[in-house]
Amino acid sequence: MTDQTTPPGLRRRDLLAGFGAVASAGLAAGAAALPAAAVTSWDMSADVLVAGSGAAGASAAIEARRAGADVLLIESLPRFGGSSAISAGVVYAGGGTALQRALGVEDTVEAMFSFISGAGTRHPPLEKIRLYCEQSSAHFDWLVAQGVPYREQLATTMTVPMAGESLYFSGCELAWPARELAQPAPRGHVPVATGMTGGRVLMAALLAQVAALGVTMQAQVAGERLVVGDDGRVLGMQVSVAGERKTIRARRGIVLASGGFIHNREMVRNYAPELYDCPVPWAGAGDQGMGINMGIAAGAAALRMHQGFAIVPLYPPEAVLSGIVVNAFGQRFVAEDTYYGVLGDAIAYHQQGRAWLITDRGSELPALQDDFLRVAQGNTVSDLARQLGFPKGALQDNVAYYNRHAANSEDPLFHKRPAFLRPLQGPPYSAWDLSLAKSFVPAHTFGGLHTGLDGEVFSSFGEVIPGLYAAGRTSAGLPGAPYIASGLSVGDATFFGRRAGRAAAGGAAA
Ligand SMILES: Cc1cc2nc3c(=O)[nH]c(=O)nc-3n(C[C@H](O)[C@H](O)[C@H](O)COP(=O)(O)OP(=O)(O)OC[C@H]3O[C@@H](n4cnc5c(N)ncnc54)[C@H](O)[C@@H]3O)c2cc1C
Repeated sequence: MTDQTTPPGLRRRDLLAGFGAVASAGLAAGAAALPAAAVTSWDMSADVLVAGSGAAGASAAIEARRAGADVLLIESLPRFGGSSAISAGVVYAGGGTALQRALGVEDTVEAMFSFISGAGTRHPPLEKIRLYCEQSSAHFDWLVAQGVPYREQLATTMTVPMAGESLYFSGCELAWPARELAQPAPRGHVPVATGMTGGRVLMAALLAQVAALGVTMQAQVAGERLVVGDDGRVLGMQVSVAGERKTIRARRGIVLASGGFIHNREMVRNYAPELYDCPVPWAGAGDQGMGINMGIAAGAAALRMHQGFAIVPLYPPEAVLSGIVVNAFGQRFVAEDTYYGVLGDAIAYHQQGRAWLITDRGSELPALQDDFLRVAQGNTVSDLARQLGFPKGALQDNVAYYNRHAANSEDPLFHKRPAFLRPLQGPPYSAWDLSLAKSFVPAHTFGGLHTGLDGEVFSSFGEVIPGLYAAGRTSAGLPGAPYIASGLSVGDATFFGRRAGRAAAGGAAA
């Protein structure tokens, strides 16, 4: 298996900058599906072909192999693991997982369902959410059985635990309005790891299973086009291997698990323009939309292509949440103590990408941070408003309103938690630019192919495309906009990846 380690001393941001550089070189452009009649002979064959070696692809390969299929896993990049391996590895799980129970955390399938279906995107995929919640506890057991390590320790931080704890509130469960939907519970399950490297631990375990089960793994093989028969059935894939075109026959099915498209800037501009200004593409270099485009070219429908995750990392330190976040009218528009994905969503999709954090002496961002620039400072709120060019009196009125209620521990607009609620009262006051284009705002995409519960891909006419499956960020799954909790993406990728692999293995041989 290819080594997936990071050189010592390399920071997360350096790593991503490196990925961006590779990505800008671009991968081969795709084209329309290839008619089977054009293929005179196949270069390789397998029962199930999985394109992509991240969480979705590895999970699909494991289950397809266990279901008895001969499986070929291809990866366009030199390394296996995808974005999943550079992620924090958080999996959103609940309803009473073994870890929750061991830590005395009470949770129910219903509470988890109410949270995911109620706090996130409008008109969410309820069937997928229901199944995911019902089987979440068993899915966590499966991860443990694959060798992913977890520690019976609960973290109280709002961000990925850094001291090896394995359970925390990874989303907006405690913030308003989500906390009114259901009894909040910590559901972010984190592999035992140092800092943010849980994804490496998770993928090391999954890829070790893939190899041990005898899946054939080939790196630097990039899928370009699906091969489609006269009857619309997907029969294989044309791939590029060191610049040479080859064809792979998939006797039972193909699982597209090739990630999303945040590194394909043209696709982002066309499909998800709200994310285009976010300066940090938050994914491995393979996130080029090739899986999605191959599916579309074969007649697949794509859903929620504009949705994604814009992360505005206000905290830590949590003390800054005593400040307020305002829009270009000097008005609050979100609970500042919510998950930073919800904050990012509110800015990207509802404020035209512009917002400011207003702090007083006790809520300033640390001096040593380069995520957000201080763009105004003054001894009064009026000083700030004038420097920012806000409408006359708007910020002053909003701060006065906020302060009046905060003094009584109330926030009639957004019900900020008492821990972060107090009047802004100590100069100097500062304004920090949270605007997407001017801050450290990572983003990735959630739109993808329209799939059913077993990863089967639907055409734009709602019919199943025989032989074609998709999972992870190549499909439109549980994550949406707003992204309400860390772990939904890897959770969805592993859970529905497994189902897609099983279904592909069980597909009728063609
Ligand atoms: C720093 C960071 C931290 C994150 N932390 C979390 C977290 O803790 N929890 C969470 O839920 N989400 C997290 N995310 C998001 C999450 O990592 C991804 O959304 C998720 O891993 C996607 O999984 P996937 O299997 O769909 O895609 P990937 O893991 O990206 O795998 C897709 C693979 O397909 C390959 N590929 C692409 N095109 C082709 C092709 N044409 N042919 C063959 N192979 C191809 C790619 O190179 C890639 O290896 C994080 C992201 C980042 C960047």
